[in-house]
Amino acid sequence: MQRQRIRMVAGNWKMNTDYEQGRDLAQEVVRKLQPSDVHVVMAPPFTHLKNVGNITNGISNVSIAAQNCHEQTAGAYTGEISIAMLQSVGVKYVILGHSERRQYFGESDELIGKKVKAVLAGGMVPIFCCGEPLEVREAGNHEAYVADQLKNSLFDLSEEDFKKIILAYEPIWAIGTGKTASPEQAQEMHKAIRTQVQKKYGEDTSMRQVILYGGSCKPGNAKELFAQADVDGGLIGGASLKSDDFIAIVESFPED
Ligand code: PEP
Repeated sequence: MQRQRIRMVAGNWKMNTDYEQGRDLAQEVVRKLQPSDVHVVMAPPFTHLKNVGNITNGISNVSIAAQNCHEQTAGAYTGEISIAMLQSVGVKYVILGHSERRQYFGESDELIGKKVKAVLAGGMVPIFCCGEPLEVREAGNHEAYVADQLKNSLFDLSEEDFKKIILAYEPIWAIGTGKTASPEQAQEMHKAIRTQVQKKYGEDTSMRQVILYGGSCKPGNAKELFAQADVDGGLIGGASLKSDDFIAIVESFPED
């Protein structure tokens, strides 16, 4: 049976690696990558994008992503990066709404929604992150919390636009903590997210929606996570900085 959704592993390097380390990491990933239909994405710091793009150029299932962008097209926004700048170096995906952007840079659902629209208007694909903090999980309100994030930032999009987005469920308590959501917790939330999409945009769109899991995903747990029916791959932080680990995660999907 034809798979309904692509499989993807995206590495978010965050504020790590200098230019040469970034070059070496990208070269190692490309060298070790076996041919497959898994979409592999690398999100290095802005300064490395052009070079990592050159290294991955011509490999059809490998793309580069930015970790953020500004919602305005151009102008007096010192220190910011525009959609056109990212386009001009071949960026395909932009990670938006990462919990670190929300927590340390005060990004609201509303602002993230504006960035999503700007990225779509620029012909790139947002990887939209959502996920609950520990206290919300402990209070049992995680599904409602994530449903609100989706509603506030995304659910005013047309169905046509919404279909272009990749979602990433990233429970904040699992990011960089070594604590992973269990496969059952991940599946439960991915299914809940798919149900929200189904209620808003219908069955067909919901079944085609790619939903990545993020939060201490590593070679030792990726297989179990990726075996879940509603988990379509991973957004990887720490483990994307070691080529062997990243490649092992890329190779963790179940056989067809
Ligand atoms: C992330 O920050 O998106 C992430 C998933 O990080 P880590 O894999 O390090 O938990």
